[in-house]
Amino acid sequence: MNTREAVKIIIVLLIVLLDVSIVFGQTVSPFLTLPFAGDYQSNCQFYCYYYEGSDNPHGAYDYPLPRGTEVLAAADGMATAKTQGANGHMVIIDHGNDQNGNTRRTEYCHLESYASGITENGQAVLVTRGQVIGYSGNSGGPWKQADGNMRSPYHLHFVVKINGIPVDPATPNYLWTTNPPSHASSAPLIPLLFSFPSHSSDGWTCGYDTQTTSDQDPVDQNTWKVAVQGPNPGVVSPELMAGLTTNNLTLRFSAKVRGTGPDTYCQIWIKDDSGSWSHEVRVRSVDGQAGNVVKRDYQYHEYTALLADAGNISIRQFSIELTQEANTYEEWIFDWVELSSGGAGGSPEFTPTILKTLIFPYLRGSLKAEES
Ligand SMILES: [Zn+2]
Repeated sequence: MNTREAVKIIIVLLIVLLDVSIVFGQTVSPFLTLPFAGDYQSNCQFYCYYYEGSDNPHGAYDYPLPRGTEVLAAADGMATAKTQGANGHMVIIDHGNDQNGNTRRTEYCHLESYASGITENGQAVLVTRGQVIGYSGNSGGPWKQADGNMRSPYHLHFVVKINGIPVDPATPNYLWTTNPPSHASSAPLIPLLFSFPSHSSDGWTCGYDTQTTSDQDPVDQNTWKVAVQGPNPGVVSPELMAGLTTNNLTLRFSAKVRGTGPDTYCQIWIKDDSGSWSHEVRVRSVDGQAGNVVKRDYQYHEYTALLADAGNISIRQFSIELTQEANTYEEWIFDWVELSSGGAGGSPEFTPTILKTLIFPYLRGSLKAEES
């Protein structure tokens, strides 16, 4: 490394630290979920370089989505679309300001087409987290590398900008989240009784028919994965202290599901003080999905079960029963589970943590790059 390069790296580090401190000096709540469903790992992250010797870091995340994959809004906002040079067809979502007045926006580039309702250079339209905003493709480019070889052009180039500056959303405790609980602000009457501590399965066991579990999904590394098959699979909570009654309790959880068969129901079973599991409560989706249906779209949804529906009984334990269909395979990834008081309100004591921790192999260049 010569002196010029060393000075450059130092300047860049200062710029990076300054930018990070601007954002980190103020509290910025996580607000982004992944802009697609499925297990696609980024193959070029924020500080990656496609061109060896390039002065510009990537400033975005590339995800190798197959052509035509649904691209999803990472958070609620106002969406517009345009075609812009190397970015190709892109959707831009303005998420408004955070609590400290920082502007927030995300960009989804190289799309093949836009979702209906989103038109190029059209009026901004309201979109909600998880809504399809377009379909991945290879618009823009160029895709030829410095060595003359082509790289795979089909990917999503995903940009997060705070105050107009591209930032790395994977910085710990920063912008990524796994479907944060959308709690009402009603005051909790009792504290959280259990959760997946640190997103692990500690204290939880599999119900019968459950096949395999692992503490961490390989993609969502702070979650708990359960693969199940059979007529009565489920997961069982740790035993609770005796004497709690159901008359003011709510069980909530966030999970994403994929499996064979149609969307299905999910039930909570309650074991009472007599040891009987005979009390059943159906879960309700609370984030826009229809009624009691558990979606198998492999996106996080939040569910709630009003345990008072089981009657006023003394409870010992819960089981979340996934499906009642025989020979049905399902894969659930739980993000969090909590038991709280206060009916539809509840305790927001559980704080979601980041979706992924990524290691940056490089740190050089400026933060100005916006191209692919
Ligand atoms: Zn890119």
